Parts: sequence; structure tokens; C-alpha cells
Amino acid sequence: MLGQMMQMPLLISSLIVHADKYHGDIEVVSGLSDGSIHRYTYTDAHKRARQLANAFDKLSVKIGDRIGTLAWNGYRHLELYFGISGIGVVTHTINPRLFPEQINYIINHAEDDYVFFDLSFASLIENLAPHCKQVKGWIALTDRIHMPEMKTANVLCYEDLLNAESDDFEWPSFDENTASSLCYTSGTTGNPKGVLYSHRSTVLHAYAIALPDCLSLSARDTVLPVVPMFHVNGWGLPYGCAAVGAKIVLPGPCLDGASLFELFEKEKVTMTAGVPTIWLGLLTYLQQNKLKLSTLKRMVVGGAACAPTLMRSLEEEQGVEVLHAWGMTETSPLGTTCILKAKHATQSKEQQYAVKTKQGRAVYGVEMKITDNDGRELPCNGEAAGNLLVRGPWIAREYFKGDGSPLTADGWFPTGDVASIDADGYMQITDRSKDVIKSGGEWISSITLENTAIAHPAIAEAAVIGIHHPKWDERPLLLAVKKSNVDVSKEEILHFFEGKVAKWWIPDDVVFVDQLPHTATGKLLKTKLREDFSAYKLPTT
Ligand code: AMP
Repeated sequence: MLGQMMQMPLLISSLIVHADKYHGDIEVVSGLSDGSIHRYTYTDAHKRARQLANAFDKLSVKIGDRIGTLAWNGYRHLELYFGISGIGVVTHTINPRLFPEQINYIINHAEDDYVFFDLSFASLIENLAPHCKQVKGWIALTDRIHMPEMKTANVLCYEDLLNAESDDFEWPSFDENTASSLCYTSGTTGNPKGVLYSHRSTVLHAYAIALPDCLSLSARDTVLPVVPMFHVNGWGLPYGCAAVGAKIVLPGPCLDGASLFELFEKEKVTMTAGVPTIWLGLLTYLQQNKLKLSTLKRMVVGGAACAPTLMRSLEEEQGVEVLHAWGMTETSPLGTTCILKAKHATQSKEQQYAVKTKQGRAVYGVEMKITDNDGRELPCNGEAAGNLLVRGPWIAREYFKGDGSPLTADGWFPTGDVASIDADGYMQITDRSKDVIKSGGEWISSITLENTAIAHPAIAEAAVIGIHHPKWDERPLLLAVKKSNVDVSKEEILHFFEGKVAKWWIPDDVVFVDQLPHTATGKLLKTKLREDFSAYKLPTT
């Protein structure tokens, strides 16, 4: 017997319709590249998304086509999120920090018909255009007065397109499994792979992130997503904020400590999300200038491990609750968030931090397990570490255009992360499987060693890689960036590890470097480090 409830497809357009209808006066604030602020409301955003939808009709864009965006977090990008997906077209957000050859590859692979771009990417577009013959038009996200002089043919003006259209438009209804957006993994090796989200997966993910034990979004929040809208749909925040009617503050390209602090304070931001490097930059700025955030309550840290020292400083100096979160492009991205249970309330601060620095519990909708290399499930005892697998309605089952079906035979997605899960369900990443250091048949967690190194007051950033060793197979080498104006010796750093990690985990050597390489999404680029140090001879060999 079937249930007798209405069959209403879960569509992205319903999010902006809801925000307009019930939170129409709530502001969407955007920091622009010239330092000025643009503000309007959800009702304005919805009106312009409908004008855009009408413009697509004139551009002969059809359901299933892909439209690229090369843009910072701003109101026009938000209009594209809803205006493109709302008509059944795929919003393909492109990460401008990828190498130009990779951008070129993904625009061609996605077969984007049009690409919308912020003016700061005009010269990038000039270089890309000759290699992207199928792109029918490049649309500058600006008005007529600010149109750039470009040698590229087919450059259109966004505001002209919108001005020519009425806002009289009804969002179409279609199958909720229709593709809605596309994001390529930053892949440190090989070509990037496309992850194709659906309306259903996106709306379910928006519900999930709003939950109290997830990002806890509400109509009383002012949310500033630092995470770029070109990285896994801005972690779903543009959709989640519309679903609950939260005020949204889009910071544009200025993500330095000073600009962020000003925006947090001016707009009375209550919740924010981004990668650890951004928060490290903000924290340093706040410490140097003796400043305190006055309205911010929650800060989501994800995309890379949040060092315990960073968490403590943010919580104890700034009074902000830090939520450690884990996810991937393939998981939409939210998989886990780390929030204490009632039983932790009576524990000491130390015990609470030991839990809070883990990557967290599965959000309802995501299932997790860990296995050994033969696929045997490992116990959830907080000790055993193995390959992390996940499944759920917003986890990818294959890559765009048949670039591989990553699932195991029994339908789980292997994340490539190595993790433990404790009896309360808290997952802790120890490494990427390819970064784990295999010493004498045992595994050493590079993340634990990096977190320990960063806890030293003279170290700004650290990376640990495995170096070939004739006896142990691999041994850890620490590459560290010193904080400016402080000095520290190799010996002092190695001594600092004593008593903090197992003796045999202590790195065999330390090399001080001026900077460490990062991927386009701000993660340590360990493939490059392994290449650069492939001939390095440890003193213990
Ligand atoms: P991406 O698909 O580019 O977002 O990268 C996903 C990968 O980032 C994951 O598989 C993890 O290796 C890493 N990652 C994401 N969040 C965390 C976290 N909180 N702690 C450690 N690693 C993380």
C-alpha cells in the first residue's frame, strides 16, 4: 500500500520561492572587489533570478545544458545559483584557483554553453576563450559602464541581459533527480572529475545542514560563508540560508583578516564557515591588533583538519564555538560535524576538546564505516583506524560522463581517508590514505604530527611526509614554516614532540621552509612535497 501524501519534487527553485515569500525582507549583503557593499533582499534576488531565467530562453539554453560560473561569493553568483538550476540547467561552478590548463579542461569536459565571470577573471577568460570553442558566450557579471575592454569575441553584459527581461516567470516543475549543479574535484593527480548533484540531493542536504547538531541555521542568524561558492556549492550554505531565511553576507574576494573582521562586525555576523588557513589568518590579525569578535557565535572549520591549538584560541580568546566538520566534493559536502552530546556536558574542558577536535558524528542521512585493506569492517572503538566509507542520498555514485564509478561492490563510497570511529560515533581522520606514513608495517598519522608541530609557538604551518627508509620502509620528515621574527632549532622542535606522541612517531628530521605548497582548495599539496623531497636523505639512514 502506498502512502497518500502529495508528490512534490524537491527542487532548488522552491528554496528561493520560500525565502522570498516568508523572509522577503531579509538582506543579502555582498562585499565587492572595490571595498564597497551591495545590499538587497531575498525578494530582490528572486526577482532577478526570474529575469535571468527569462534571459536564458532568449539564449536558447535548454534543460540539461551546463552553464559555467567563475565568480566570488556575491549577489550575482547567488542569482546564478537559483536562476540556472531553477530552470533545470546545470550550474557548473569553476574554481579559478585551478591551473588554467585544468580550467580549460573542465570547461571543455563539461561542455559549458555560456560562462559567467567576475571582472577580476577577465584576463583569465581572454586566455581560456581560444581553447573553449563550444562556449557560445562569456557573460561579464557587471553593468554596461564597467564592461571591460577584452579581445575575446562574444562577451555579453549581465545587467544588459537582465534589464531586457521581465520578472514574470513561473519556475518549471520536473523530476527531482534532474541534475542541478556540477563541481570538479581538485584532484592532485590526473584530470579533475565532475561530481553532478541533483535537485533532490541538494534540497535534502540543505535540510540536513540546517539541523541543530549540524550547522544549526535559523531565521535569527546572519551567515557569512567564507567558503567559496565555487567549492562544493559553498558547502550548501546558499541553499540552507534560503531554506531558513537567514541573512546572508557574501564576502567577495577580500578574505584577509582585516576585511573579514570589518564585515563580521558591521553586519553582526553570527555564524561563519571556512577552511583552517582562513581562520588562522583572521586569528593572527585579531591577536596582533588586540581585537575581539563581538557578535560571532559559531564558526565551522572544515576542508582540512582543524588544529587543536587553533580551536582553543578561537574558543578561549574570541568566545566563538568552533564546529569541526568533515566532507568532500563527492559528499555535497557535509558528512560529519562535531558537536558534543549531553553526556559530555559534565566533562572537563580537556576531555571536551579531545572530542571536539575529532571530525565528528555522521549527519542524519550519511552512514559511515571503516574497513581494513581487505574490506573487512573494523570495530568502532576509537582505536582501530581504517579506510573510511560512506553512503547516503547526497553522496556521489559515479563521476560525470562515466569518468569512473568509485563505489565498492556493496554500494559504499570509499573516501580515500583513513579514520577511526569511537563508540559514540565520533569519527577522527588520521590521514588521506596516500599520505599515511608506513613505518615498519605500522601506520603513523601525518595529521597528528602536523597538529603537534603547529602547537609549538614558533611554528606557523607544518607538513609531514613519509621518506623512504632502508630499514623501516618510510619515516616521517617534518617540513615547517617558522612564524615571522621567531627562531627555533630543529632539536627544540623534535624535543617538543616528546611525551606528546609515541616515541617511534617522532619525525626523523625537520626542514624549515619559507612556505608550503597548497591545492586550489587550500589543502597541503603533499604530492608536490613528496616530489621535491624524493631524493632527501634522512640522518637516520
Ligand atoms: P575536497 O573534495 O576537495 O573538499 O576534499 C575532501 C577531502 O578533504 C577529504 O577527503 C579529507 O581528506 C579532507 N578534509 C575535509 N574536511 C576535513 C577535516 N575536517 N579534517 C581533515 N581532513 C578533511
